[in-house]
Amino acid sequence: MNREEFVTLCELDGLPGYENAVRDYILQQLNKYPTPKEITVDNMGNVLVHLIGKEPANKVVQFDAHMDEVGFIVTHICDDGTLRFATLGGISDQALFGHRVRIGKQCGIIGGKAVHQCKGQEKEKLPAASEMCIDIGCCDADSACALVKVGDVGTFDAGITWFNENIFCGKAVDDRIGCALLLDLAKEQPARDIWLSFSVQEELGLRGAGVATEQIKPDFAVAIDATTAADTAGNSGDDKVCCVGGGAVVPFADGATLYDSALRQKVNALAAANDISVQVKTKIAGANNAGAMQRRHTGVYTTCVSLPCRYIHSPCCLGSVQDVECMRKLLSLLAEELTR
Ligand SMILES: [Zn+2]
Repeated sequence: MNREEFVTLCELDGLPGYENAVRDYILQQLNKYPTPKEITVDNMGNVLVHLIGKEPANKVVQFDAHMDEVGFIVTHICDDGTLRFATLGGISDQALFGHRVRIGKQCGIIGGKAVHQCKGQEKEKLPAASEMCIDIGCCDADSACALVKVGDVGTFDAGITWFNENIFCGKAVDDRIGCALLLDLAKEQPARDIWLSFSVQEELGLRGAGVATEQIKPDFAVAIDATTAADTAGNSGDDKVCCVGGGAVVPFADGATLYDSALRQKVNALAAANDISVQVKTKIAGANNAGAMQRRHTGVYTTCVSLPCRYIHSPCCLGSVQDVECMRKLLSLLAEELTR
């Protein structure tokens, strides 16, 4: 993985339906690589890349990652200059309260009552997102309206921090890690043709990737994403779901997909033969673009290669380069094997 590309991708804003900055950066990088390719951007904003291999492929294979991230949209500007908002994608109330946010260039914080004002049970529980406001430092609606409009979208104000050489933490790792790995696939001419889709609006219900699949018409699809690692304090056994440092996650099922078992066995055999660490998810939870791609075209043999990520859908998604390297090696082997 190119760390500079990955960090830049995470720090760009790409709310669902507003993926422009991420898309522009991806197109700019793709155009730098000499690999022969055809690039199109469809009407939804998905970027489709046909990488021309050294030989034609016998099977059409689509590798997908989504460009969007979770965030929020301003729904109302209050008389006191604070902003009401709705979330875009699934964000827990804990991941919202007290965090720094950014709406375009405007900084703010998601605030609420200070502990001194809370009475009785209020002290014990977080306010719901619907009771929280974004404070952008204005004292009335007119001054807030001059800076932010209803319908503007925002994200967490949290770049990537390196805890050490291996561990990174920040916003939008889900799924800029997938975008970075797709860019890696585009850096060298593949043995046979492959297709990449950088898709839109995954966080609002897998909206873009299926549209890309209708155009690519693949035999095989591989969703590249980040998934919940719950190997944190207080969890043991299957409650951990998957672990940071445990390798690439190749699930047998999640909330949207029952993965093709023959293909999953093939992926696992390929990983074993090449000393690549892989793990499963021990809970059937979450969903990703595999769920949309599998059910399009004539039905598609679908698998998923995910990064185990702690505190996903928050300003501090934590993952490891070691796991990313497992994903990168596995994806390049899949590009070769599935196109045969
Ligand atoms: Zn994702």
